[in-house]
Amino acid sequence: YVSMTPNGDASKISSTVVVLSGGGGGARLAGALSGEAKGRQVIVVTNTGDDFEHLGLLICPDTDSVLYTLSGKIDQQRGWGRAEESWLVFEELKNIAGPAWFQVGDKDLALHLLRASLLSDGQGLVEATRALAKQLGVPDSVIVVPATESPVRTHVLTDQGRMAFQEYFVGQRCEPVLKDVIYEGVDAASPSQWLVDLLSQRGTREIDVVLGPSNPFLSLGPILDIPGMMALLRQQARRVVAISPIIGGRALKGPAAKIMSELGLPVSAAGWTLWMSERYPDLVDTWVWDEADEGQANSDALKSFDIRTTSTVMSDPAIARQFGAWLLEACASEC
Ligand code: GDP
Ligand code: CA
Repeated sequence: YVSMTPNGDASKISSTVVVLSGGGGGARLAGALSGEAKGRQVIVVTNTGDDFEHLGLLICPDTDSVLYTLSGKIDQQRGWGRAEESWLVFEELKNIAGPAWFQVGDKDLALHLLRASLLSDGQGLVEATRALAKQLGVPDSVIVVPATESPVRTHVLTDQGRMAFQEYFVGQRCEPVLKDVIYEGVDAASPSQWLVDLLSQRGTREIDVVLGPSNPFLSLGPILDIPGMMALLRQQARRVVAISPIIGGRALKGPAAKIMSELGLPVSAAGWTLWMSERYPDLVDTWVWDEADEGQANSDALKSFDIRTTSTVMSDPAIARQFGAWLLEACASEC
């Protein structure tokens, strides 16, 4: 594993930013940070709770979105899959009565085939992901590492029964009312060994951990609930910063706000902060909210929290990079 250190010599790297990420807001943030990294090493820890088998292939939606974002290959409009995609295989699948509920484009499929081939050759998920990142052209300064190699699969309990994550998210478009989330397999999982090694060989490096503005129930939970993960991050980090996915009482995309209200939580940056700090005690040092929510930061319940506000909407890559630069500065500044 030591040989997997990028750029050969870890001692030349002055600081490291570790980003925990789903496939949306987290992926965009990872892209923004890698653009502003300037000599820092960026490690993106991806959620594996969305991973599933389809057409006999292992599909890793969040890891793939991160790989596509970092290599500039993501379809920006859609927010997932490849830009300039074609759908010949998917059309033919439908013609021959194959499964049509999950869309797989031709270029995307090529990646799934390559991953399947690497895994069947005996590589682990981490090693295979590393090879895919290289093939796609993810910059050397960024390491993409799935949070764990043990199978963790997110299931949801809803008013329509229990279902696997993709059935809920894609099959049912998040319409069922969510009652609880289960990360199947998480109790037997452990953090990816490469991540443990990367963080433990820190030397004199400063390590900052950023929880991307990812869905706390569906993207961050399956990472943080891996036994040993919180302790690893906390032990190695100078500072842990969390970015709110809730802006002005709404999620920019996806079901985070809908789920919060279904679980009876106030849908606000404050509600997210209080819930996160109860669910993951003593993990986060600094909370980053969008400036739209500044007014809530003075409430009594939040007196002891270090809350910073700025414009956090990463509407295009240039604006995202500005946010990335701001964040790196905030990480380095005094609490
Ligand atoms: P998923 O795997 O596609 O669900 O993606 P993530 O969990 O990584 O991200 C989804 C969350 O990111 C949603 O709750 C969004 O509100 C949030 N999000 C997306 N884009 C942005 C952004 O530009 N800024 C902030 N602050 N949050 C964002
Ligand atoms: Ca996801």
